[in-house]
Amino acid sequence: MTETNIQNTEEKKSLSFVEQLVENDLAEGKNGGRIQTRFPPEPNGYLHIGHAKAICMDFGVAEHYNGVCNLRFDDTNPSKEDTEYVDSILHDIQWLGFKWGNVYYASDYFEQLWEFAEWMIKQGKAYIDEQTSEQIAEQKGTPTQPGTPSPYRDRPIEENLELFHKMNTPEAVEGSMVLRAKLDMANPNMHFRDPIMYRIIHTPHHRTGTKWHAYPMYDFAHGQSDYFEGVTHSICTLEFVPHRPLYDRFIDELQEMQQQKDYRPRQIEFNRLNMTYTVMSKRKLKALVDEHLVSGWDDPRMPTVCGMRRRGYSPESIRKFIDSIGYTKFDALNDVALLEAAVRDDLNARSLRVSAVLNPVKLVITNYPEGKTEEMQAVNNPENEADGTHTITFSRNLWIERDDFMEVAEKKFMRLAPGKEVRLKNGYIIKCDEEHPCDKDAEGNVTTIYCTYDPETRSGLPGADRKIKGKTLHWVSADHCHKAEVKIYDRLFNVENPSADERDFRELLNPQSLTVLDNCYVEEFAAERKPGEYLQFQRIGYFMVDPDSTADHLVFNKTVGLKDTWAKQNK
Ligand code: ATP
Ligand code: MG
Repeated sequence: MTETNIQNTEEKKSLSFVEQLVENDLAEGKNGGRIQTRFPPEPNGYLHIGHAKAICMDFGVAEHYNGVCNLRFDDTNPSKEDTEYVDSILHDIQWLGFKWGNVYYASDYFEQLWEFAEWMIKQGKAYIDEQTSEQIAEQKGTPTQPGTPSPYRDRPIEENLELFHKMNTPEAVEGSMVLRAKLDMANPNMHFRDPIMYRIIHTPHHRTGTKWHAYPMYDFAHGQSDYFEGVTHSICTLEFVPHRPLYDRFIDELQEMQQQKDYRPRQIEFNRLNMTYTVMSKRKLKALVDEHLVSGWDDPRMPTVCGMRRRGYSPESIRKFIDSIGYTKFDALNDVALLEAAVRDDLNARSLRVSAVLNPVKLVITNYPEGKTEEMQAVNNPENEADGTHTITFSRNLWIERDDFMEVAEKKFMRLAPGKEVRLKNGYIIKCDEEHPCDKDAEGNVTTIYCTYDPETRSGLPGADRKIKGKTLHWVSADHCHKAEVKIYDRLFNVENPSADERDFRELLNPQSLTVLDNCYVEEFAAERKPGEYLQFQRIGYFMVDPDSTADHLVFNKTVGLKDTWAKQNK
């Protein structure tokens, strides 16, 4: 693409509604023209493609408007969080191709949040409730019926302060008391009915250890953390729409405490990414891992970023897919086929073409001398000449795909059959023997196919392009290839929208989501590839070396087929 072309496409790309809101704020001169966003994962699981959508938005807006996007770990619940998750999140964001300004933790603000809570208590705006969570829930009322005030709602300020301090001691019993904001038990927005600000947790925190015993709730930590950091646009998903008034309310209180009115963060919500045949809930994904229903967070069937990486999806393809589905105000279910199309598109441009035979049958070229070999040149990537070529060894004994041969062929069969000619990719035209086309075992399975080659048709040589009716087949030389295990993946779930199904999600798993082919052969060049190199097994699909692959036991993961055959097969 020329430079003008690039500019044109950029101009044409319409702004998302989030970018429009940001532009309005800039036009109004808000926050002195400063743009600051954050990506706020809770380190309680690995990132999935839904998070990638949020990442593209949070980092994308900052990049677009010369702002900064920070990473903030929302680590306010030590009972579920771990540094393992922190490390994986850092790695995955970088792999997706984004750079953060700073790394922050909500736990960095525990001291400030504590002081703010104390200030609220002293203002008579918060109280300690010693009821059980069940009692509190019963008193919440319904959206059309006001709630019932807690009997502890009007306790004296001094008593509240004393109990709040008691909450933060090792002796405090989990669940025995909470700090609640004294807001409005009749508010139609349920989040205003005296929301919980603090609860007692004794599990040591991954960063602050046993320093704290009282921890702030999401609603009392998120907006404030945004405020402490100077976030201008706090972009999140639609389920936080009903939280926004409370977000704003706590910011009002903070501004009052700090006696400043110049700056405030603004929450903007967009639709979550939901995808067919999978789930996005970290709780469910964690259950799949913990119950060994998948091999780990990075199982190539998982919708996690690490799973997709292991499967062979490129970061560019994930970003292109997210770009194509866009950001709206309405929740939807996105077709996984769209993601696969983006992957195919991207890998077509970047993958190394190699030869692999997944369901092999022996082929002998009877007029090719025993012991002779030839080095053939194979183009690495027809989409990019600069990727060069590699050599593949040709010999008398080859492996080809079993279903590329038919002893009794139908008319339309354009592959190998008695008396028929085909071309071997980067090799010669061969003809299957008419008299004795193959040997078979006792069960009638073909064991060896016999052919002759035409020495005048070596690929790339003058006069080699003799036209034949048959197709071009891939092959590997039997003495110059490596045995490999190939893992083929199908949808993880059997139903289109497992999250909307009444049945337990475990019952909806597809028992055929993994097929292991353990008798495959790959050419030597393919055997030398490493995880992270995008491969195309010619005529089959895209593949990636598995991280567990060794020289003695090669393992490849199928990323996606060359064409979308899934929709047809499952009609
Ligand atoms: P879960 O509820 O399953 O634990 P979460 O949404 O709470 O997941 P967080 O770690 O809190 O996970 O999410 C970090 C950010 O990623 C939030 O801003 C959240 O809105 C966003 N996010 C999470 N899931 C999706 C999704 N499916 N699509 C788009 N954004 C998402
Ligand atoms: Mg969350």
